[in-house]
Amino acid sequence: MRELECGSPSLLGIDIGGTKLAAVVGDENGTVIERSEAPTPRLPGSDWRMAALILVELARDVCARAGIATKAVSGIGISCGGPLDSVRGIVLNPPNLPGWRDAPICDFLAGRLGNASIVLENDANATAIAEHRWGAGQGSSSLAYLTFGTGMGAGLILNGCLYQGKRDLAGEIGHAVVDPNGPLCLCGKRGCLEAIASGGALDRVAREHLGDDATAATICERARRGDAQCLGFVDAAARGLGTGIANLLHTLDLEVVILGSLAVKAGDLFLEPVRRYAEEYTWPSIYAGVRIIAAGLGSEAQDKAALALASSAVSRRTETRLD
Ligand SMILES: [Zn+2]
Repeated sequence: MRELECGSPSLLGIDIGGTKLAAVVGDENGTVIERSEAPTPRLPGSDWRMAALILVELARDVCARAGIATKAVSGIGISCGGPLDSVRGIVLNPPNLPGWRDAPICDFLAGRLGNASIVLENDANATAIAEHRWGAGQGSSSLAYLTFGTGMGAGLILNGCLYQGKRDLAGEIGHAVVDPNGPLCLCGKRGCLEAIASGGALDRVAREHLGDDATAATICERARRGDAQCLGFVDAAARGLGTGIANLLHTLDLEVVILGSLAVKAGDLFLEPVRRYAEEYTWPSIYAGVRIIAAGLGSEAQDKAALALASSAVSRRTETRLD
């Protein structure tokens, strides 16, 4: 039994980020109807509840503005940086959210926002679902979404389903070693993909070679103007990313690889060399037909990611009823 018609604003998405908290109401097409946000409080001690109470207020506010009662919400999706326990609905200890330690956010919100089912996923997985459903991955059955932001995480959709692994740790491609002699990674290993090909890695290269104020954007800007040194930095990052993608393709035989943040901003400056290296390092039979493309959801990606989880929450409840 469907409680609300398809297209009605019945989904509540919640995004827990290092700098902002957001709540959105939307529909099964991924359309954002209303949105509220607030800065993420810097928490003393381990009091994640302060932020969670702000989320409750944001959710109530956004529902009121969308004209629905919180008890009429059909599914709630929470997108949050990992690590987390999606089965038990617990945020474990994300490095960008000090104060969030073993926080049972799903139970906390369930008691305050009606009786809708709730899904919690890390932001890379959530965005992978959204890109598969409404973005650059539409129509494909197996894809990887690589965040390519400050860090490098991945969400994997395999045979149409999100693949989380046995402990919610699938998709940690950012810490696959692509150069054992490469730069030190924040995780302590050397030559991780994230240390070579991510916004954070390029920020570091920019600071070391171009000055304290330089960033990944500086490298891209100069590379576009033909600066040989910066083209070299882009090429080195693209080579690392192409290596990582080739390993993914050989392991998973994917149809689409979607690159987020930096690839969206830099476009073909990165995409072309990444495709070239990925093709060079992948068997032709595996590379044939593969698309390596920029993410398609633009500035609403995080909102739509949370809505995609909310939609999954509705499906999960329907499946449970059928059981
Ligand atoms: Zn690492």
